[in-house]
Amino acid sequence: MATERTLSIIKPDATKRNLTGKINAKFEEAGLRIVAQKRIHLTKAQAGEFYKVHAERPFYDELCDFMASAPVVVQVLEGESAIAKNREVMGATNPADADAGTIRAEFAESVGENSVHGSDAPETAAEEIAYFFAGLEIVG
Ligand code: ADP
Ligand code: MG
Repeated sequence: MATERTLSIIKPDATKRNLTGKINAKFEEAGLRIVAQKRIHLTKAQAGEFYKVHAERPFYDELCDFMASAPVVVQVLEGESAIAKNREVMGATNPADADAGTIRAEFAESVGENSVHGSDAPETAAEEIAYFFAGLEIVG
């Protein structure tokens, strides 16, 4: 096991419903430390660049519109095996498949509007963190 950092986004469906604190509590209860955090409102182009890996998927346009529809909270989470641990705390992409107690089981509205994003591997975590944060903004 090693200490890792992962990129998390609290998505528009959750910021609109004032769930930032409840979601952050889930991370902290799981031992993930919030070492950087800011609230921003993405443009559709910025959302599209972030999710470009999904550009060919049928839901891409809808996803970019959704991510630009209201503010998001972008954050860096740090801890032992933080990438996998955060994916566990988030739950499955589709809330209908998410384990009880996970963020998506408790808060997500649909497979698209599913409250949180989390990086899926060390390489994507590094890229995604660098997309939103300068090194000086991350304080572990
Ligand atoms: P995850 O966020 O769990 O890593 P993916 O990387 O597969 O999931 O998808 C990225 C995001 O695209 C999802 O979190 C969700 O917001 C959206 N999405 C994925 N699948 C669908 C779908 N079938 N319909 C609508 N939106 C989807
Ligand atoms: Mg993903």
